[in-house]
Amino acid sequence: MAKRYSFLMQVNHAFDKAAALTEHDPTVLKTIKAVNSVYHIQFPILRDDGSIEVIHAWRAEHSHHKQPTKGGIRYSMAVNEDEIMALAALMTYKCAVVDVPFGGAKGGIKIARHKFSEAELERITRRYTFELVKKNFIGPGIDVPAPDFGTGAKEMAWIADTYTSLATGELNALACVTAKPVSQGGIRGRTEATGRGVYFGIREACDNPEDMKRLGLSRGLEGKRVVVQGLGNVGYHAAKFLAECGAVIVGLAEYEGAICNPKGLDVDEVVEYRRTNESIVDFPGAENVESKAALELDCDILVPAALENQITEENAPRIKAKIIGEAANGPTTGEAADILFQRGCLILPDTYLNAGGVTVSYFEWVKNLSHVRFGRMEKRFEQGAYRRLLKAVEKVTGKHFTDAEINEIARGASEEDLVNSGLEETMVMAYQQLIEIREAHEGKITLRTAALINAIDKIAASYEHLGIFP
Ligand code: NAD
Repeated sequence: MAKRYSFLMQVNHAFDKAAALTEHDPTVLKTIKAVNSVYHIQFPILRDDGSIEVIHAWRAEHSHHKQPTKGGIRYSMAVNEDEIMALAALMTYKCAVVDVPFGGAKGGIKIARHKFSEAELERITRRYTFELVKKNFIGPGIDVPAPDFGTGAKEMAWIADTYTSLATGELNALACVTAKPVSQGGIRGRTEATGRGVYFGIREACDNPEDMKRLGLSRGLEGKRVVVQGLGNVGYHAAKFLAECGAVIVGLAEYEGAICNPKGLDVDEVVEYRRTNESIVDFPGAENVESKAALELDCDILVPAALENQITEENAPRIKAKIIGEAANGPTTGEAADILFQRGCLILPDTYLNAGGVTVSYFEWVKNLSHVRFGRMEKRFEQGAYRRLLKAVEKVTGKHFTDAEINEIARGASEEDLVNSGLEETMVMAYQQLIEIREAHEGKITLRTAALINAIDKIAASYEHLGIFP
């Protein structure tokens, strides 16, 4: 079925809906909505067999109201200019929702990555970076990429290496890209950050007594039946954290097929099975389901964590989940969101739910600029202070703590502890803001609209007093 609206049109439509509920100057709203700059590159690449292939790639910077701009780079055959602009816009709103001081950006290379060797992928990534440098579309204070669909820490390491070798003497060069391997300036906890953030967001939603009552669900994650689409970085980690905290993963979908088991699936076992068999189909003890049909499985929470436009007006009426956790960007079309809202479903919007990645990327950027690991200065000091406190408690109470108890209680925070706690704080606070905005509108708006109102208010505030608008 032909899509009626492009991805960017969908994002802009959702923006307009939220903007209409604000009182900002129309010029300010127009400025916020506009994609500031788009760079379309075509460059030749030498294939291993000696042939030359011309590659299409893009980088879009949506908003410069805060700099640098920030957003992932995806490798997929579905990449096109409209998609990259839409994703860049979502990044702007997402950063505002979680108070990360960046404008939004996104990049993409139109390739089927499995058709390229590792050496070819490295050549493509390095050439793409070189092209971004040439046009000033990358840099610690300009535009800072990160991974997205089809990319990971390895590509980020290639980008960092290419950029630093061109930016001789630039002290902060490593801050040109985030989600690097820890050995190359990355931060602990970034790989799993988006999935962990998805877990925190879903946990917050399930902890809201009014929402759970309205949905006819019990409070808390315990026993909630979850289906996850996409077992990549975001989907895998989200499923893992949800399962660790009591949820039951009853369905998992990949592009080649899906599996379900009402008694629960072990995510690590499924991933291992897929690695060995190159498919999740026929996983022992599970029932096979057609890939897209997995979205319609009987469950409480559906987590689309693959690509955009997965839940449309066509399949929305058949979705059984009461909570949709948008781990992917734009998985639910506007029409589908309206249908689900009318049916009483709760959609946790992408602009909030998958913001854990950019939040921890922000921490990594700060680490790179400060040139010191989080926790390095205070870890031992905290440890000493807690130990002195325990000794005082022992003295007053006459109780003696075991070495194991002392080690557990009197532990200074490591980098990973601080990253995870900063991420949790961010997701909890941002959720509270969305609920407050929804309540201010008497519960008549979706959390997606609440998130966009929140973003618009914050971005509009950054234009205040500048006098550039009539
Ligand atoms: P990834 O490449 O690591 O994983 C994507 C997974 O989805 C792969 O396993 C792929 O095989 C699977 N997939 C592809 N098409 C599918 C289909 N039709 N049905 C089922 N599965 C399918 O990508 P990722 O980084 O996990 O990103 C997933 C989504 O999350 C994207 O929308 C991305 O924009 C969004 N996101 C990612 C991050 C991040 O930090 N990586 C941050 C925010 C948002």
